[in-house]
Amino acid sequence: MNNKKMSIPFVDLKAQYKSIKKEIDSAIENVISETAFIKGKYVQQFENDYKQAYGVNHVISCANGTDAIYITLKALGIGAGDEVITVANTWISTAETISQAGAKAVFIDIDPDYYTINIKNIEEKISHKTKAIIPVHLFGQPVDMDGIKSLCDKYGLFLVEDCAQAHFAEWNGRKVGTFGDAGTFSFFPGKNLGAYGDAGAIITNDDSLADKMRMFANHGALKKHFHEIEGINSRLDGIQASILSVKLNHILDWSSARLTSALRYNKALNAIEDITIPQIHPNVKHVFHLYVIRAKNRADLQAYLKDRGISTGIHYPTPLPFLKAYNYLGYSEIDFPISAKYQHEILSLPMFPEMTQEQINYISNTIADFYKV
Ligand SMILES: *Cc1c(COP(=O)(O)O)cnc(C)c1O
Repeated sequence: MNNKKMSIPFVDLKAQYKSIKKEIDSAIENVISETAFIKGKYVQQFENDYKQAYGVNHVISCANGTDAIYITLKALGIGAGDEVITVANTWISTAETISQAGAKAVFIDIDPDYYTINIKNIEEKISHKTKAIIPVHLFGQPVDMDGIKSLCDKYGLFLVEDCAQAHFAEWNGRKVGTFGDAGTFSFFPGKNLGAYGDAGAIITNDDSLADKMRMFANHGALKKHFHEIEGINSRLDGIQASILSVKLNHILDWSSARLTSALRYNKALNAIEDITIPQIHPNVKHVFHLYVIRAKNRADLQAYLKDRGISTGIHYPTPLPFLKAYNYLGYSEIDFPISAKYQHEILSLPMFPEMTQEQINYISNTIADFYKV
């Protein structure tokens, strides 16, 4: 195949900056000239913008997506002796914060088709200690929220959605993050809605929970110097907030562009027998934070792509229960057979809104060459 060598990053943040440079530069300038560095007008503005975009009553901004989960769990009163159910394959923040709150993470294997928490395996893990479920809308694909919601209702459990990879994704026409008690977001630069540093937020419709979250994130005080409890210091800064307000105007276009690229990949890769393309659940609006295939001879394919200028990633190389950090829970591969199998097959191809058809063709042709289709 005539495939002229290209260099394709995993995520191209420069391409995105170039496309909105004027707006971003002037937003940053405003913050600096007004020295509205911490909290203040631009943080307030972003919270309002995000609130409107999600149609929720409260947005609590914070320092990052990890804190967003931690603050939520603390505000819900989850702690020692409690169990929280989540998925085996996710970024460690989801489980780490459960432990930091003092509770125990109970892992569930992934669904073989959609790579998110396997709903069928949850009920057998619910005990009298279970307080909450944290589904993760991994790679931008929403979890079956009808299934999760009915389990939470049946057993009286809190529902916290980890939306770090799923800004504006939808389950049955409704945005994820709005189904449960709270939805948590990361605005890490590489996320679908990314700041130029660390940033996070929580959305909720629960007034009293919102107060508790604001208080905990602000040293335990809603009013300056009136510390009702000990909390933490987790806040968004003005520069990040102003950047996020600019980017919020583009996020739906960027989500569509991601979907377009994913469908192009699917079409181009569908015929290659040695790989499995990602499936889009019929009930969802998938926002493709990551485009993840399963590949035969993954290590060789990844090296082959690297040699030809294509950066890839693995999300994640080791499912959480098999990490050293969770050795103490005593799990082995037979406890999470799908996660155990897929960890050796999954490969994340370049995915960002500015991808061109030419780049997708180059990547797809290179993969086809590797398998000699
Ligand atoms: C990125 C991410 C987080 C944490 O967000 P940070 O802003 O990096 O703290 C949590 N959960 C998931 C699934 C993520 O992808």
